[in-house]
Amino acid sequence: MQARSHLIFGVGATWLMHRTGWAASVHAWPLTLVGALLPDIDHPKSVLGRRIAPVSLLISGLFGHRGMTHSLLLPALAIAACLYGWGHVPAWMLALCAGYLSHLLADWLTPSGVPLCWPLRTRFRSPLYVTTGSSAEWCVAAALAFAMWRWW
Ligand SMILES: [Zn+2]
Repeated sequence: MQARSHLIFGVGATWLMHRTGWAASVHAWPLTLVGALLPDIDHPKSVLGRRIAPVSLLISGLFGHRGMTHSLLLPALAIAACLYGWGHVPAWMLALCAGYLSHLLADWLTPSGVPLCWPLRTRFRSPLYVTTGSSAEWCVAAALAFAMWRWW
């Protein structure tokens, strides 16, 4: 999906955290949005990839697009590191991971799917999917935005 749709899904993650009582403060919002864009750091022309090109080029060269960064490995490692180091997962990390997972969910809705269990090559994809940049993608994002507005 495109960055704009990922941001809407990121807001959706924040909305879900708010609705379920996980969002401790509004300070988590920006991190959720960063998390929603973070997996595409593996693409040099992505929003974050253009801003930190050396890192993006390195990750892209090592793992390719929709490789390691589109799996559950990084959020799982981040949560494990927090639990090991601090004994709990701070709100800012929950927000970052929620945004990250929203990105994986959004890309799961595309024909390419996501390698959730990387380094295993199996890609997971929704049985109903939308092509990136298509009007169907905008309909999905708009429906999500409407649902959040309706049930905020
Ligand atoms: Zn992606």
